[in-house]
Amino acid sequence: MSAVPKVSAYEIASGNFERAADLLDLSPEWRKLIRTPFREMKVEVPLYREDGSFTTFIGYRIQHNGARGPFKGGIRFSSLVDEQEVRALAETMTYKTALVDVPFGGGKGGVNVNPPDLTTRELEHVTRRYISRIHLILGPNRDVPAPDMGTNAQTMAWIVDQYGRQHGYNPAVVTGKPLELGGSPGREQATGRGVMLVTLAAARDHLGKVPGDLRVAVQGFGNVGMNAALLLAERGATVVAVSDHTGGYYKADGLDLDGLVAYVNREGGDRTLRGYDGADAVSGDEFMGVECDVLIPAAIESAIHIDNVHTVQANLVVEGANLPVTPRADEALRERGVIVVPDILANAGGVIVSYFEWSQNFQQYRWSLENVNDRLENILLKAYHDVAEKQKELGSTMREAAFALAIGRVVTAEKLRGSL
Ligand code: GLU
Repeated sequence: MSAVPKVSAYEIASGNFERAADLLDLSPEWRKLIRTPFREMKVEVPLYREDGSFTTFIGYRIQHNGARGPFKGGIRFSSLVDEQEVRALAETMTYKTALVDVPFGGGKGGVNVNPPDLTTRELEHVTRRYISRIHLILGPNRDVPAPDMGTNAQTMAWIVDQYGRQHGYNPAVVTGKPLELGGSPGREQATGRGVMLVTLAAARDHLGKVPGDLRVAVQGFGNVGMNAALLLAERGATVVAVSDHTGGYYKADGLDLDGLVAYVNREGGDRTLRGYDGADAVSGDEFMGVECDVLIPAAIESAIHIDNVHTVQANLVVEGANLPVTPRADEALRERGVIVVPDILANAGGVIVSYFEWSQNFQQYRWSLENVNDRLENILLKAYHDVAEKQKELGSTMREAAFALAIGRVVTAEKLRGSL
């Protein structure tokens, strides 16, 4: 699979913003005020490897906009992390939290480390070092990180511990924690659950299809892709293809998802799909063109670009990942009448349940899984309907409507604060 994106995350974020800002007729001053990040922190993260060698990584925490509440967004560990990417992802969080109307702003963090290259102890060390250098700008009412690509509940546990050493214990400083440390039931599946919910809603409204009629392909078999695939299958959809960065697999009458999950989690394995032999192999370049109704890019940015968009057979694309479709590919999909559910709606389930986790931490109370899932569905489907209404009003795509709604809410908050 092509590892280096052809169009940068920042270019995609700019395209999303400018198209919606045009529809809102936003002035150049407002465009500048909204787009410019509030604060950017760049730190060195040194590490003595267990083999005695020494290396350093670069860590970032970018706080894009806090007009609607504390900065909120994940921390990504990936060798592709750089300033531009984190900036684009931080801005995407500002619009995501505004669209689903949770009381947060947008931020993002990242370290340019490839987790599989390090031992668990080395990863813990990198996490603690990174946090010890950015802790002053974090806090339950200031900036609340969460997991993203390459990080998980264990990483969040180290963060709560490290932050606590410097500020006193406070679980509300980070979300996506293990249940035992104040995490929320349902947080781990939340992004995938949200992807499933909007996929079924959009398939019903735009394709006139019930779950049992849907053939789905999912690019990315991490937290988002795996849970989206499992939950869609549970609702009756047929998952015909999945892939990760090591390769893709296709089976016309539906993949054995439990078998795939067991394969990824097998003892001694590298937690990838590499070498799976229960289905036909599909190369990275061919994957976007597999036969299906719904294509869910749930891995990296720029996955659907101008060189592969013509192969897409799906009538519905649901953005499980952040920024997976480049502006030119988006335009090509629109021209062909392919419906695209944008990232700030499609993958907002994670941050919605992060909001529940944060609230539970303040309440010192734990909600039931049923309560979390019901509230997630209510909030996400309300946002979905708000976007549908806005789409009718503007005569636009779902993406333009979602960004127009979200940017409008951020502008209103800034105006009320007297920012411009
Ligand atoms: N990293 C996730 C995202 O991109 C979750 C962010 C959060 O829960 O704060 O939406």
